[in-house]
Amino acid sequence: MTGLVDMIVVGGGPVGLAAAINARMRGLTALVIEPRTGPIDKACGEGVMPGAVTELAALGVHPRGHRIAGISYLDGTRTAEHRFASDAALGVRRTELHRVLAERAVELGVEFEHGKVEAIEQRAEGKQGGGRERGGGTARESEVQGGAVSARLADGRTIEGQWMLGCDGLHSTVRELVGLAARPRRVRRRDSRRFGIRQHFEVAPWTDLVEVHWAPNAELYVTPVSDSEVGVAVLGARGTSFEEALASVPALAERLRGATPASSVRGAGPLLQNTTGQRAGRVLLVGDAAGYVDAITGEGLRLGLAEARTAIECIVDGDPERYEREWRGITREFRMLTNGLVAAANSPLRRAVVPLAARLPRLYGRIVESLAR
Ligand SMILES: Cc1cc2nc3c(=O)[nH]c(=O)nc-3n(C[C@H](O)[C@H](O)[C@H](O)COP(=O)(O)OP(=O)(O)OC[C@H]3O[C@@H](n4cnc5c(N)ncnc54)[C@H](O)[C@@H]3O)c2cc1C
Repeated sequence: MTGLVDMIVVGGGPVGLAAAINARMRGLTALVIEPRTGPIDKACGEGVMPGAVTELAALGVHPRGHRIAGISYLDGTRTAEHRFASDAALGVRRTELHRVLAERAVELGVEFEHGKVEAIEQRAEGKQGGGRERGGGTARESEVQGGAVSARLADGRTIEGQWMLGCDGLHSTVRELVGLAARPRRVRRRDSRRFGIRQHFEVAPWTDLVEVHWAPNAELYVTPVSDSEVGVAVLGARGTSFEEALASVPALAERLRGATPASSVRGAGPLLQNTTGQRAGRVLLVGDAAGYVDAITGEGLRLGLAEARTAIECIVDGDPERYEREWRGITREFRMLTNGLVAAANSPLRRAVVPLAARLPRLYGRIVESLAR
């Protein structure tokens, strides 16, 4: 690519690839910087909610997966179940999601650089002495027409562009470099941070629902991803063991007894990542990098895809300032619901979650439908 690229996308996960596809579809040039190669895997529940399926279809992306008709909560004695009122969700292996997004990006002319971003500079046009500014506190001042942003890779190369999208996930380097990471609160006596782990098994799905098993110390998500494979994602405190969590749900352990593992155990976390904002000058944060609460509602992909589309729209409209407002709107319900559920999960109320969902099916249904949008 010659000259300044319109959109530098840091991170080639699903959100980064979707952002680059959106950019190309709006006539911008886009370059994705990603250190990993091949179809990228990640610890994920792999439930692609109906809203995310719609976002992907609008990009011309149609992953193979298993139809998901709704979500059930189970605790060993009680079950609450809700089937989506309209469109279905999909259980999709992350490697499949990455493959189809990457193929579409290549088809549309997205460029790729292999590497890890280690430094960012923003340049305000017309400043004396080159006007170069580090990404931190002064970044907001550099919002002048015609400015630029550059990324320095670990191997010393520099890539310059008009705009940068930080789509580099939970532990975003971009977020740190541009000064948008919120300092962690004072460590409490009890470490309430949550982590996720997942593994796949060769077994035919026994349901078309995502099953959420509320075990005493963890939540286990079972997602059918094909006619012959299910994924199990476990959410819990630091040090949660996959085997112990599975053993704490005898009905599920029984279903998986003797099934061949179809992937290795993979983890992610801590899940809670706070930000002070989502834009610093010509750098916008998108997806998990922009702030994340927890995977308990399985919505990261739906939100990240909506944020990617919105970030590009704001830039194309010449109104990047709008992005933070839009981000708050896109994530408001997720933040409220997820914070509430995590608080319940970490409290004595935990044991009441499934009985309440079973006793109040209309409320449970409304909550599941809000995840489906
Ligand atoms: C256990 C668990 C279960 C989940 N279940 C679900 C679910 O069922 N449904 C759902 O929708 N969501 C779920 N999520 C959330 C979902 O996985 C995330 O929201 C989603 O992966 C976010 O995508 P992303 O592209 O923003 O980040 P990522 O997928 O993390 O991609 C970030 C990319 O950036 C790259 N990168 C990192 N640093 C740099 C750097 N310095 N320079 C360049 N590149 C860099 C990484 O290599 C990576 O490829 C779950 C999460 C967890 C942990």
